[in-house]
Amino acid sequence: MATRKPFIAGNWKMYKTCEEAIHSAKTLVEKVKGVTHADIMIAPPYTALYAVSSVVKESNVGLGGQNLYFEKQGAFTGEISGEMLLSAGCQYVIIGHSERRQFFGDTDLTVNQKINRAIESGLIPVFCIGETESERDANETFSVLDKQVKKGLEGIFLNSSDQLIIAYEPVWAIGTGKTATIDQAQEAHHYIRSLIKTVYNEQMADQVRILYGGSVKPNNIKELMTMSDVDGALVGGASLDAESFSQIVKF
Ligand code: PEP
Repeated sequence: MATRKPFIAGNWKMYKTCEEAIHSAKTLVEKVKGVTHADIMIAPPYTALYAVSSVVKESNVGLGGQNLYFEKQGAFTGEISGEMLLSAGCQYVIIGHSERRQFFGDTDLTVNQKINRAIESGLIPVFCIGETESERDANETFSVLDKQVKKGLEGIFLNSSDQLIIAYEPVWAIGTGKTATIDQAQEAHHYIRSLIKTVYNEQMADQVRILYGGSVKPNNIKELMTMSDVDGALVGGASLDAESFSQIVKF
């Protein structure tokens, strides 16, 4: 079985001005200096990316965008391309976050187009999937994950597992303080890994990193990371504070 390096990502959503973002990034860089057991990423808002990129440049903190548009360039007012994220210093991009699906019209099809564009432009997609509370209550969790994974990755050719990170984020656990139990997380991650085997192959399934997201805090990360298919976390609220995020990184 492959040993997968843990990946801890922070999604800053629509928080922090440029000054605040620079300050937080500087504090984080200091706090996680010397950490080698995990890859680290932060995703500040677009406006702060370039400034934050010079703060994290020589550090072990990677940079991600929170979204991108699936066209290369053009008359698409308000949108951001993969090349723009790259030139602002990003290595990663979050795609299909439930808030994008819920409030901004992202669908399995546009998520698929965005993953394609991210890879074409040289970014590593952090591909978000997860069921809503009513879907879980209706026992539809696996069928929702099945559809999101298969449609999201349809026609996407991967050379190596390094090109893709998956984040399982049950929508009912995002920003609610309700975390999935470690068994619920493991069950979903294991299922997602089996889907990756179906879509690609066993080696890809064994190597791809699957993050858990949904109210991850310094006091629950350790337990989540004991599960064999949980390879890290995508953290919202608790990533805004450099101290709590660094504690999660150091789980
Ligand atoms: C997220 O935004 O991806 C997230 C998981 O948020 P939170 O950690 O606040 O639940």
